[in-house]
Amino acid sequence: MKSMVITIDGPAGAGKTTVSRFLAKKLGYSYLDTGALYRAVALEVQQNTISVEDDNALENLCRNLHLNFINQNGCFHLICNGKDITDDIRTPEITMMASTISARSVVRGALLDLQRQMIQDKPVVAEGRDMGTVVFPNADVKFFLDASLTTRALRRYEELKSNSGQYLNVSLDEVKQQMQKRDENDQSRAIAPLRPAEDAIKIDATNLTAGQVVDVMMQHINRHLKI
Ligand code: C5P
Repeated sequence: MKSMVITIDGPAGAGKTTVSRFLAKKLGYSYLDTGALYRAVALEVQQNTISVEDDNALENLCRNLHLNFINQNGCFHLICNGKDITDDIRTPEITMMASTISARSVVRGALLDLQRQMIQDKPVVAEGRDMGTVVFPNADVKFFLDASLTTRALRRYEELKSNSGQYLNVSLDEVKQQMQKRDENDQSRAIAPLRPAEDAIKIDATNLTAGQVVDVMMQHINRHLKI
C-alpha cells in the first residue's frame, strides 16, 4: 500500500476525532489531532495569564513549547514540556480559549511548522480545520465532515453526559450556543478559516453513524489507492 496523507476537516462535533482514529487504526497510519495543539497553547496562555492580544508573549510562549504525542495502549496522550496535559485541555474554558488564540497569526505560524514536522514522511490521518487548505495542501485524500448544528450539539452533549454523569453542569442549549460561537470564530477568522478545500470530498454525517462515515471514506481511499 502506498503511504498517504489523509486530511479530515470540519466544524466542532462533526465526529472528526472518532472517525479519524478509527480510520488511522484501520489503515495502520499515524493520527494527528491538531486541535489538541491549539488547546495546549490555550492552556499555557491561561496558566501564564498572557493576554491573547500580546503577540510578542504568544510568540515567546510558542517558541518554548515542546509538544509531542505518545500512544499508550491505543490512547493518545499529549505531552507539553514533559507534562501530560491530555485531560487539562478538555475543559470548556480551554475549548473557547483555543478558538480565540487560533485566530492569532503568530500562533498559527508556530503550529504550522510543528504540524508538518510531526508527520515527517509517515502515512497519517490529520484532523483539524485547515488540514486540506493550508497545512497539507498536497494531501492525497481530503475530507470535509459536517453535520447539522442540532445533531452536532446533541452528540457533544451526550458525550459530556456519559463522561460526567450526574455532575454535568451544562445544558444542551448551552452546548449548542458554545458550538455555534466556535463555528463562527473558526469560519470568520482572517487566517486559515474553516472551509472545505476545493478538492475536498464533503460528507454530511447528520444521518450517518461513525461506522458509516468510515465506510464512505474507505471507498474513496480505496479508489485513490488503485489509481
Ligand atoms: O478540534 P478541537 O475542538 O480540539 O479544536 C479546538 C479549536 O482549535 C477549534 O475550535 C479551532 O479554533 C482550533 N483549531 C484550528 N485549526 C486546527 C485545529 C483546531 O484553528 N487545525
